[in-house]
Amino acid sequence: MTRSPALRSDRCPSDDLSEFIYLDHAATTPLCREAADAMRQGLLLFGNPSSRHSVGQVSHEALDTARGQVAALLGCQSAEVVFTGGGSEAISLALRGTFAALRWRGHLVTTAIEHSAVLESAEALRRHGVDVTIVAPEPSGHIDPARVAAAMRPDTVLVSVMHANNETGAIQPVQDVTALVHAAGKLMHVDAVQTAGKLPIDTLDADMVSISAHKFGGPKGVGALRLATHHRVEPLVCGGGQEEGRRAGTENLPGVLGMAAAAVSAMPRLHDATYREQRCELRLRLLQQISTLDGVHVNATDPVMAETVSVSFAGVRGDTVADVLDMHGVCVSTGSACHAGQDSPSHVLTAMGVSDERARATLRFSFGPATTAADIDAAARSTVAAVHQLRRVSGHGSLLTAESAGAH
Ligand code: PLP
Repeated sequence: MTRSPALRSDRCPSDDLSEFIYLDHAATTPLCREAADAMRQGLLLFGNPSSRHSVGQVSHEALDTARGQVAALLGCQSAEVVFTGGGSEAISLALRGTFAALRWRGHLVTTAIEHSAVLESAEALRRHGVDVTIVAPEPSGHIDPARVAAAMRPDTVLVSVMHANNETGAIQPVQDVTALVHAAGKLMHVDAVQTAGKLPIDTLDADMVSISAHKFGGPKGVGALRLATHHRVEPLVCGGGQEEGRRAGTENLPGVLGMAAAAVSAMPRLHDATYREQRCELRLRLLQQISTLDGVHVNATDPVMAETVSVSFAGVRGDTVADVLDMHGVCVSTGSACHAGQDSPSHVLTAMGVSDERARATLRFSFGPATTAADIDAAARSTVAAVHQLRRVSGHGSLLTAESAGAH
């Protein structure tokens, strides 16, 4: 497939993002200016933060400051922040680290709509002998806390539920679940990778919270786990005593400084009602314009993140529409997980009871702080045109007109 002619491998898209309408912030975000500046500074701080001498101590102090800034985003003490190599590693440390410390005994409760970092970790735990219960979502894309409570057993050690889903944007009742979990004397992990820097996460009362820098304007390959001081995990990475023995290896100082700067830059937006209202208006604007088409289905109901819009277009394949949009400089994702040539419908939509056909007909648009109404209008225009064209080619348009004019 020929991609948009604007992008060559020797050019950095963030230099000329104006040539693109980037609506794939749930996949990754452009590096914000503050993070880039902090990373440049971090590259020059070459001292090892563990060294006793002055050069090392400069790096150590920078790391400490960054830890405090990430702790503020997470609403915890600095001592509770473990820097990791991204969201997947933070999640693995939470899940595998907890059960490894218990010699793989006990029971885990999680949900069918989690990211593969959680689901694959759960599978690995199962292979070690840990019992795992997977709770199904409601058709709305939400987890019912009562179902989580019903899944808990006397030997349950840990419950893991995501804050918002990466495909549908559905915001999960994690506070209610945490209260139930704590009342039962169990541990709670929240995958907040999609909400960090977008929704407040400092009020999450969980024992462990995972975040990833590249979802909120920071660099890739850096994340953090909020790990309550009362909870002990077995480290995944062994070696030196960095991160208080919870994650060995010399710290990625430029990456951590970039993540901390992105956190500081995102925090004012978290409580900015005008900003939130604008994101909601962008969502509504997109939905209104694409709903001029027949056969449009929105894949999650409220509460949902304003920034993530998952829609299916009857009669077309999401990946084909995404490819056509890409040729017009509009970057979006499909709702299906296509790994290494596999073409399986999204496990999230499938768990919600969505048919394979509708799951394959899904597109995900996700916004960032710089997304404008003009971006939305242009993306909506291109989407409507692409869907019309593809339906015409397949003859599906006439079918829809005859059968399901009201199937929105
Ligand atoms: N959890 C969720 C909900 C995600 O959306 C992602 C990334 O897409 C991850 C975990 C994994 O994060 P990372 O890419 O930093 O490993």
